Amino acid sequence: VSTSAASTIRQVKLERESELRIEVANDTPLKLRLVTGTAEIFGTELPPEIWLTFPPRLKFAVFTWYGATIELDGTTETDYTADETPMISYVNVHAVLEGRRNRAKASSSEGPRVIVVGPTDSGKSTLSRMLLSWAAKQGWKPTFVDLDIGQGSITIPGCIAATPIEMPIDPVEGIPLEIPLVYFYGHTTPSNNVDLYKVLVKELSQMLERQFAGNAESRAAGMVINTMGWIEGVGYEEKLWSMLKDVLRNKQPNVDVVKLQRSGGVVSRNAKFRQKARSHRIREYFYGLANDLSPHSNIANFSDLSVYRIGGGPQAPRSALPIGAEPAADPTRLVHVNINRDLLHLVLAVSFAKEPEQIISSNVAGFIYVTDIDIQRKKITYLAPSAGELPSKFLIVGTLTWLET
Ligand code: ADP
Repeated sequence: VSTSAASTIRQVKLERESELRIEVANDTPLKLRLVTGTAEIFGTELPPEIWLTFPPRLKFAVFTWYGATIELDGTTETDYTADETPMISYVNVHAVLEGRRNRAKASSSEGPRVIVVGPTDSGKSTLSRMLLSWAAKQGWKPTFVDLDIGQGSITIPGCIAATPIEMPIDPVEGIPLEIPLVYFYGHTTPSNNVDLYKVLVKELSQMLERQFAGNAESRAAGMVINTMGWIEGVGYEEKLWSMLKDVLRNKQPNVDVVKLQRSGGVVSRNAKFRQKARSHRIREYFYGLANDLSPHSNIANFSDLSVYRIGGGPQAPRSALPIGAEPAADPTRLVHVNINRDLLHLVLAVSFAKEPEQIISSNVAGFIYVTDIDIQRKKITYLAPSAGELPSKFLIVGTLTWLET
C-alpha cells in the first residue's frame, strides 16, 4: 500500500489480468486516464486518452485483461496494484448468462435472473454492476433490481428500485438518477418493518413481471438483483451458500447456486461512512452529482398535502394484552400523519397513488425534503427537484432523515 502526497502526474503500468485499486483522497478529486492498452472500471471500458475526474473518497479499481498504462493526476488515500483478482470467475458467470440470453432470445423465453447475496461489503453491488455493464456492452438491456435499502445504487436510500441498463454504467456518474421504478420503504434497515419490506418487494416483482410480459427484449436480457447484507461476518459465508443450496434444492430445483470469491479490493465501510454515503446520495438527488441541479424551495398549505406513514408503530407486547388476544398493530396499516414539526428534516416520498388505499401498492414519483414547518400559518416549506406542483398530494413518511450540509 502506497500513499502519494504530491499532486503530480504519474504513470502506472498494469500487466494483463491485474488491477489498480484506488481510494481517492478525502477532499480532493483524482484525475485518471488510459494511455495505452485497454482497461475497464467495474465492467465499463475506459475511453483512450480522455482524463476522467473521480470525486473524493471514491473507491474503485481499474482492471485490464491484456495490459494497460494508466496516468494519475492528483492525490489518493491509497493506490496499489493487485494481480490476484476473481475477475476470471466473474466473467465466466457473464459468459454463462450470455448463453442463456441468446437461448432465451431464440425461443422468446425468459432470460437469466441473477440474485447476488452475501454479507455487507463483499462486493455485491460491484459484481452486479459488472454483470450489467458487460451485458449492456453486448447490446442487451438487462434490468437492474436494487433491493439494498441501505445504500441505493439506483435512487436514494430507503427505497427498492428497478431500472433497465441500456449502456455500460458510467464509472463516475453511476446510474443516472432519473426516476426509475421506485417503491419507498422509508427506513434504511429492514428491521424497522420487515413485513412492509416484503410487501414492497412483492409489488416491485409483480410490476416487473407485467413489464416483462409485454417486452420480449428485456425479458430475454433478464435481470441482476442486488441485495442487502443478509448475514453478518465472514464465518457465515460458507453457511449461507450451503443453506441456500439446501433450501432451493427442494423448492426451486432449477435455480443454480454459484459461490464466488470476494475480491481482495473490496473495501469495508464502517457505520459512519455508510451514513455519510447515504447523506451524499440524498444530496445528489436534489443537487446533482456535480452540484449542477437547482432544487426549488416550495411552500404549501398543510391542507394541500396528505401525509401517511405505513405501519402502526411498535406493536404492543403480547404480555400487555388480555389472554388469547393478538397484537393489533398491523405493520402494513396506513396511518394518516398530522403535519407538525416532527416532519422537519425528513425525506418524504411523493406517491403515484390516486387514493390513500393505493399508497402501499404504488410506486413513487420522487422525493421532497422538509425544511420548515410553520404551525401558526399552517405552512410547510420543502425542497423538491423542481418548481411547481407535486405530481400528487399523497406523501409517505418513514424515518429517513437528512441534514443538508
Ligand atoms: P456490497 O455491495 O457487498 O456492500 P460493494 O460492492 O459496494 O459491496 O463494495 C464495497 C466497496 O468496495 C465499494 O466502495 C466498492 O467501490 C469498493 N470495491 C469493490 N471492489 C473493489 C476493487 N476490486 N478495488 C477497489 N475497490 C473496490
